[in-house]
Amino acid sequence: MRSMKVNGIAVATAVVACSWLSFLAPTSNAQNFDFFYLVMQWPPAFCNQPGARCKPRIPRTFTIHGMWPQTNSGGSPQDCPGAVPDVRRSGQVDEATLGLMDRQWPNLKRVRRGNGNSQFWTYEWNKHGTCSGWSLQRYFRATVDRASGVDLLRELRSNGIQPDNQLYARNRFGNALGRYSAVISCNNVRRRRTISKQIHEIWLCVHKDGSRIFPCARGTRFRNCGGGAIVFSS
Ligand code: 5GP
Repeated sequence: MRSMKVNGIAVATAVVACSWLSFLAPTSNAQNFDFFYLVMQWPPAFCNQPGARCKPRIPRTFTIHGMWPQTNSGGSPQDCPGAVPDVRRSGQVDEATLGLMDRQWPNLKRVRRGNGNSQFWTYEWNKHGTCSGWSLQRYFRATVDRASGVDLLRELRSNGIQPDNQLYARNRFGNALGRYSAVISCNNVRRRRTISKQIHEIWLCVHKDGSRIFPCARGTRFRNCGGGAIVFSS
């Protein structure tokens, strides 16, 4: 009799533990990833590309491009289940967060109607955000919160690096942003009849729970920046 009672208690405990663990477990579309890249773009370097059709007032501050799940081995899970037709109209992101997104995460491209921001957010959610395994609210809120905690332009300026179309030695960018051990990504720009590399994006590492930016593992890295100096376009 006593052993039946003990068994009953053990079974009940196991059931409670299992349901609690399944609550903690990632949702079904959660992917295996190790951290995020919070990708901040320098709008003039996106908009000065041949064929780029940007809206007239190009921001002169780093804006959000996206927040991308990454694996330590260099993988980047993409296009997981959970795509939506339109982030703003989904009703799954609160107004306060949408307001911050409008300010910090503009669609730089010219569009026919409206500001087109939600088109860009939707593209980024469907390609990258779905692989976070998070709700839209959590993903977008974490992205704007982490981005608003950094002022990359101020950090560059305080190290004497300005958006003035001049060339800067790579290690000056590396030193100015050294505490992030970020990825500095370049594209090409035509300058004085030659093609130079310009700073285009800065990829910061964000903890996989979205709570904080941390220094990436391998020190500052340059992506597509060539071996010489880098232009900071105005
Ligand atoms: P990814 O596909 O890796 O998330 O991002 C690359 C794409 O984002 C490129 O096709 C690039 O053109 C696009 N992109 C970067 N900035 C903007 C923007 O402000 N608006 C839109 N619509 N696309 C952008």
